[in-house]
Amino acid sequence: TPAAGDGTTYDGLRLRGVTKSFGAFTAVRDLDLDIPRGSFFALLGPSGCGKTTTLRMVAGLEAPTSGTITLAGQDITYAKPYRRPVNTVFQNYALFPHLDIHENVAFGLKRRKVSGVDEKVREMLALVELESQARKRPMQLSGGQQQRVALARALINEPEVLLLDEPLGALDLKLRRGMQIELKRIQTEVGLTFVHVTHDQEEAMTMADTVAVMNAGVIEQMGAPEELYENPHTTFVANFLGQSNLIEGVVKSRSGDVVTVDMHGIDVSIPAARTHADGDKGWIGIRPEKVLIGDPGEELDAPGNSIPGGVVSDVSFVGVSTQYLVRMPWGQELQVFQQNTGHRRLYRTGEPVELSWRPEYAFLLDFSQDAS
Ligand code: ATP
Repeated sequence: TPAAGDGTTYDGLRLRGVTKSFGAFTAVRDLDLDIPRGSFFALLGPSGCGKTTTLRMVAGLEAPTSGTITLAGQDITYAKPYRRPVNTVFQNYALFPHLDIHENVAFGLKRRKVSGVDEKVREMLALVELESQARKRPMQLSGGQQQRVALARALINEPEVLLLDEPLGALDLKLRRGMQIELKRIQTEVGLTFVHVTHDQEEAMTMADTVAVMNAGVIEQMGAPEELYENPHTTFVANFLGQSNLIEGVVKSRSGDVVTVDMHGIDVSIPAARTHADGDKGWIGIRPEKVLIGDPGEELDAPGNSIPGGVVSDVSFVGVSTQYLVRMPWGQELQVFQQNTGHRRLYRTGEPVELSWRPEYAFLLDFSQDAS
């Protein structure tokens, strides 16, 4: 995608230095964001981090305190909501109860006196697989079906960008999972830019090409889901996207792209692309499912990092996996998830074990951060 300043315009959605303050409180701070045209982009973060405020500024429902928002090169920072090619799907579908499904979807176009409305409505209802429900009232549909009507109603306006604000928040878990796959399919089919706001990490990772993790008004890290998961840059991102063991360590030496870290008297090697100097303290991060558990002295995964001296302190059998807590000699309990493939034996509370992981599965984080 061409960058600004080279004579061509960026064809996606671009935020530059966008800040939103409510009185003395800054909800969004100096946000820079490039969302490529046609991408499925997720803004992920805990409640109150500023996701909705960001979305509302893109929709035109809130004006930035400073900064600019451009869409395909057009400055829309202060454009009226109905003047920008942007539509929003909210969690509460806001369908008209007295109109049937066809009429609900047709409503916006009818008002604008566009021709061929009925044909377009049929197309949209086919896209969301609700053709057979066209003459029903919203009340007669399930939550998931109502959500799809809301989606059809937004898409029929042919926006360039569709904003989704926790659109699956009101659905139960099973329906949510189904709708995630459905939303992704629809996005691929229509090829529009979707900007999806959620606090559900699994939802963001399932659907989005790019996830931006937001915390306290700023984006901590942005990237492909697997990139964020495998290589988080902050303890917040490590903990928000799944679970992480974070263990104190001190960098001892570096050889090429690998650093040796002293982890409570045990040398572990970690690929470290970023700069860490000898003597630096850091958090060694390792995901529970990347840790192997075995008998003391067992050669688990050569050439892995072997960590002796653990004692199982808790076992939970959860079907597909067994989840252990293992108390280490330095007093910390580490989480270990073992897939129940039937090939490995289960350990009981009180048993001595050895842990191991491949160096490339671990990551090293700056120690200046809070590990909580
Ligand atoms: P949630 O998932 O709970 O909606 P969020 O990440 O979307 O959270 P925002 O709704 O963007 O968060 O709110 C960010 C912060 O800005 C919150 O602390 C909120 O209280 C504050 N805030 C939002 N709108 C206003 C407003 N109109 N006036 C004052 N404070 C506001």
